[in-house]
Amino acid sequence: MTRPFVFPGLATRVVFGSGTLARVPDEVARLGRSRALVLSTPQQQAQAQALAGALGARAVGVFAGAMMHTPVEVTEAAVAAYAAAGADCVVSLGGGSTTGLGKAIATRSGADQVVVPTTYAGSEMTDILGETAGGEKTTRRDPSIRPEVVVYDVDLTLTLPVGLTVASALNAIAHAMEGFYAPDRNPVTEALSRDAMQAFARALPVLVADPVNPDARADALYAAWGCSTTLGHVTMALHHKLAHVLGGSFGLPHAETHAVLLPHTTAYNEPAVGALLDPIRAAFGQPTAAAGLWHFAKACHAPLRLADLGLTAADLDRAAEIAVRNPYAKPRPITRTGIRDLLQNAFDGVCPA
Ligand code: NAD
Repeated sequence: MTRPFVFPGLATRVVFGSGTLARVPDEVARLGRSRALVLSTPQQQAQAQALAGALGARAVGVFAGAMMHTPVEVTEAAVAAYAAAGADCVVSLGGGSTTGLGKAIATRSGADQVVVPTTYAGSEMTDILGETAGGEKTTRRDPSIRPEVVVYDVDLTLTLPVGLTVASALNAIAHAMEGFYAPDRNPVTEALSRDAMQAFARALPVLVADPVNPDARADALYAAWGCSTTLGHVTMALHHKLAHVLGGSFGLPHAETHAVLLPHTTAYNEPAVGALLDPIRAAFGQPTAAAGLWHFAKACHAPLRLADLGLTAADLDRAAEIAVRNPYAKPRPITRTGIRDLLQNAFDGVCPA
């Protein structure tokens, strides 16, 4: 039976393909903008400079200081650079860190955003911004945060190292996983997520063996778009909360933390959500979604243990306490013991029962 739903509409224009980077100048012009500040991490500065060159008179500078978890000091320096250059939009070239910086500038200045994602993290289709100040990360949602245009160029993902490819894809799969049981799920996000599971299941094993396979790269980026769209249109739950706690309070790396947690958060909620996770069982070929994701992660050589990401056994109690402190969407009741057990399993990297 089709359940009642509300679908809020898709606000972001998407250009997807190979060689689409060349279309960024037209997309800036289409927005009625003519003075772009190009953003990147220090590692991708050369790519940002080349894009600024391609934008010609439509670029007024490059700010290559984007960092993980969007520290406000970096944002303040970038907003100052934006104002000093007389910019009227940002072009964010990179992963979630660069997209986050573009969003932080946009929500403070009203800048339009053209995002060119080069990982599968999935920030580009969302109205969510996480920022770090004084060692604490806070997250908020607001329409002013959502980018106007996303240009997906498959060619830019060919250089993504295999380890980050796998971890970033599991980060994306986590958005779909929680989307399947989100209270505000709708047929559009469900269909996109289902399709994304199939595409990732097909593409990732190919990319582990052949990272520059163009068809698999196209499938993976398409899947990332579907997962990002889901993240941007429904409410996330336990998995994202725990990843946020481990990243924000313990400094664990973003994509890898999502990758390790995913089978365990799935196992926690699976008994309560039943058939809603059928698309994951179907895509990853195990009787439970949790086991399917764990075996898939292992086969793709993803990290499996929080212990390997820098968490210590002494951190587990505090992590469980922070995680149960604030209420959030929960298909299965959250108990301190249940979360502590989940974290222990993720710490040890065992296959969830
Ligand atoms: P990242 O953006 O920090 O990128 C990791 C590293 O890989 C960087 O050095 C980057 O320059 C490099 N890199 C990126 N693409 C590359 C490529 N194609 N080839 C070679 N190197 C490349 O990592 P991420 O996992 O994409 O993003 C993590 C950040 O995004 C976190 O801060 C997280 O909170 C945020 N995020 C936010 C949302 C949201 O909706 N607000 C969603 C997902 C992630």
